[in-house]
Amino acid sequence: MRVDVLVVGGGIAGASVGYFLAEYRTVLLVERETAFGYHSTGRSAAEWTAANCEGQKRSLALLGEPFLVEPPAGFTDRPLLTRRGNVLFAPPGEEAAAEHYYAQVSAHSPHVRPIARAEALAMVPFLRPEMLARCYFEPDNGEIEVEALHQGYLRGIRRRGGTTRTALEFLGAQWSGGRWRVRLGDDSIETSLIVNAAGAWADVVAERCAVRPLAVEPRRRTAFTFDPGFDARAVPVVDAIASGFYFKGSGRALMVCPGDATPSPPCDAQAEDLDVAIAVDLLERYTTLQVRKLASRWAGLRTFVRDEQPVAGFASDAPAFFWLAGHGGAGILTSPGLGQVAAAIIADRPLPPAALALEISAAALSPGRLGG
Ligand SMILES: Cc1cc2nc3c(=O)[nH]c(=O)nc-3n(C[C@H](O)[C@H](O)[C@H](O)COP(=O)(O)OP(=O)(O)OC[C@H]3O[C@@H](n4cnc5c(N)ncnc54)[C@H](O)[C@@H]3O)c2cc1C
Repeated sequence: MRVDVLVVGGGIAGASVGYFLAEYRTVLLVERETAFGYHSTGRSAAEWTAANCEGQKRSLALLGEPFLVEPPAGFTDRPLLTRRGNVLFAPPGEEAAAEHYYAQVSAHSPHVRPIARAEALAMVPFLRPEMLARCYFEPDNGEIEVEALHQGYLRGIRRRGGTTRTALEFLGAQWSGGRWRVRLGDDSIETSLIVNAAGAWADVVAERCAVRPLAVEPRRRTAFTFDPGFDARAVPVVDAIASGFYFKGSGRALMVCPGDATPSPPCDAQAEDLDVAIAVDLLERYTTLQVRKLASRWAGLRTFVRDEQPVAGFASDAPAFFWLAGHGGAGILTSPGLGQVAAAIIADRPLPPAALALEISAAALSPGRLGG
C-alpha cells in the first residue's frame, strides 16, 4: 500500500490537519487506541478563548473562529461554538497579579473589561463576595462541541477519499529511495510524508524515525465534575487569575480544575487524589458550594515545547517529516486555524490571507526555532 501522507495520531491535531490536507492529498490517519480521542482530546475542558491565549496560539484561535461559528456545509449538524463568557477574579492579596493580567490582556483583547463585584455575583451568585477583590468579564469565551468537531474532521477525511484507522500503532519508519517505508502494526506501507501528530508521544514517534526529538513536555492536568444541586448549564467559565484554578458549567454538572501542570511521561494519565483535593479546597474557599460526591474525575496531558507555542513544520534533520505538536492547553480551540495552516505548509501553498493578517507565520511555527 502507498499513500501520499501518513498522519500518526488520531486526536484533534491529526484529525484537523488530515481534514484540510485530504483536499489535496491521499491521507491515511492511524490511531493506536481503539477509539479516537482516547487521550488529551477526549479529556479537555472544551473552552474557546482567544483573549487568554498568547502569541501564535491567539492568532490561530482567531483564524479558526469563523470555522467554528459557521462550519462548512455537511460538516456537522450541531453548533460547534456556544458563547458562555468568562468571569475572572482575584481574591484579596492578588490584586497586583489581576491588574498585571488586565494590562496585558486589554492591549490585544479590548472586549475584556473590569466589572463590579455585583455584576460578577449576578452571573455567578455562589461566589463568595469577600473573595472578589478584582473582577473582569470576557464576553467572547465559548464552549466547543469537541466530539462533533473531532468527528467532523474524521468524517471529512473519509469523504475526501482518505482513510482513518484505530487500533493501529505506528512502530517505525525508514527513509529509503525517496520515500518512507513504514511499519504499522503487522503491516508495512510506503508514504511520501509522515505527519507527527502523536500528542504526548511526539518525541517517541520522532525517535522511531531517527528524527531528533524536540523535548516535548507532557504536563498532567486534572478535572472533576459534581452535582452542585442546581442546573449549572448557564455557569460561565470562572477563573481565579493568579492560580489557574477554574470551574464552569459542564452539562448540568459543574466542572472544576485546580490548574495543575505536573510534568509526566507520556501515558494514560489518571487523576491524583491530591490534585482533586486541592481543587475541592479552592472551590469551597472561593464559593459557597460544598462537594459531597464527585460525578466523575479524570486527568489528561497537555504537551508543551520550550516556548509553549505550537509547532507545525518540517524537521530540518530528516526529509518529509512534519511536526504537529506542542498544543499545550489550546489544541482544541486552535485546531481549525492550525489545521489549515499546517496543511498549507505541507502542500506548499500560500498561507490564507486571513492568517497573514493575523501575523501567523511558518517561521514562528517552525521546529527550526527550537533547533528541530
Ligand atoms: C484537563 C484538560 C483541559 C483542557 N482544556 C482545553 C480547552 O479548554 N481548550 C483547548 O483548546 N484545549 C484544552 N486542552 C488541551 C487539548 O486537550 C490538547 O491540546 C489537545 O487535545 C491535543 O491534541 P492532540 O491530537 O495533539 O493529542 P491527543 O488527543 O493526545 O492525540 C494524540 C494521539 O496520538 C496517538 N498516538 C501516539 N503514538 C502513536 C503511535 N505510535 N501510533 C498511533 N497513534 C499514536 C495517541 O494514542 C493519541 O490518541 C485541555 C487538556 C486537558 C488535559
